[in-house]
Amino acid sequence: MTTPNAHRLAARVKLSEEHLITRMLNIADGLDDVIKLGRGDPDLDTPAHIVEAGRQALSDGATHYTHPAGIAPLREAIAAQIRDHGGADYAADEILVTPGGQHGMFVIALSLLDPGDEIIVPCPGYNPYQQAAELSEAKVVKVPMGMETNFTLTAEMIRPHITARSKILVLINPNNPTGTVTAPEEVVKIARLAEEHDLIVISDEIYARLTFGNHRVQPVAALPGMRDRTITLSGFSKAYAMTGWRIGYLAGPRDLIMPMTEINHAFAISVAGVSQHAALAAATGPQGCVEEMRETYDARRRAICAGLDAIGMDYAEPQGGFYVYADVASLKLGIGAGAFCERLLSEGRVMMYPGTIYGDHTDDFVRMSMTQPVPRIEEAMARMAAVVAAIREERTAPAV
Ligand code: PLP
Repeated sequence: MTTPNAHRLAARVKLSEEHLITRMLNIADGLDDVIKLGRGDPDLDTPAHIVEAGRQALSDGATHYTHPAGIAPLREAIAAQIRDHGGADYAADEILVTPGGQHGMFVIALSLLDPGDEIIVPCPGYNPYQQAAELSEAKVVKVPMGMETNFTLTAEMIRPHITARSKILVLINPNNPTGTVTAPEEVVKIARLAEEHDLIVISDEIYARLTFGNHRVQPVAALPGMRDRTITLSGFSKAYAMTGWRIGYLAGPRDLIMPMTEINHAFAISVAGVSQHAALAAATGPQGCVEEMRETYDARRRAICAGLDAIGMDYAEPQGGFYVYADVASLKLGIGAGAFCERLLSEGRVMMYPGTIYGDHTDDFVRMSMTQPVPRIEEAMARMAAVVAAIREERTAPAV
């Protein structure tokens, strides 16, 4: 039974698109051998030395609440890691450890947004930013992106959307769901625009260590004039395959991080100690595991692109993260991306998500996660080719 409160929540955070995910998961439950390219959850295991650090921490009694901002050595290690990767210089009390970066989005929205404030988000872009803003009764202003810019924002695309109520600009780099990287010189222009209009930038750099070819991410907070107006959101889920440990962080100027720490405390008290000790091992231990995972995703990315090329399907150039954003409309099948995903799942047993889930203004694109080994990806591409051929045949078959 749906309670009145559930209705209210669904209306406030507009969950309707996500019902599509639930419907697809329900279809998948009734099928064998589904190849799942849906969720952004790595199939790779958390590296052994990190798991071992968690195990050791439990034996050593890390079973209590911690400081609400996170244990001091972890905050120091995060600050050092940010610095080592070309980011801004932070003190330990300018880092807030949260139960996942996603939780951080709600902490940010509840701390910074008043009803009627405007938050500018990339469209398509990771959708909890919108849901968090809606819970704060802020207005979500979407900047539509397309193939012309390989689904990345430019300062000139953002400019017309700025008003007197604009408060926050969200930059997700690399972007989810599109797997694309905003070029460093464009990040500089976007930062200048934010300064000019006194905007706070939320720079989501959670995939920043997973980039391909010569693409790289320019940390926003390290740019001149940006440190005090930027909150960097990141975490351990993606680079270290630690999604289930639920640990991420926010980095920003003390006067913004302090109230956020209070809100984080009200929500969660603190992140599980075991996860903090594991994350400490991740940040301070050998980093070869990140490079190994990056290379694994790079090989998978090439396998997906080869499969799409063979099918004749257009896609945004995947430059970072672990997603490929592909254009169903380019196949001219006469169905939208949502309907395509449902057919691909029920007839081809391959799961991927339509871009509408991430606020895409068209129903043209699907997101494929690189969360399966290459042979399974190749099998998925072969199944997809068969479903595309079946749809085409239906369309050309004479009516009876
Ligand atoms: N930011 C982006 C762009 C993401 O895609 C995700 C998860 O998919 C997150 C943040 C949140 O990750 P977590 O809550 O696991 O740290």
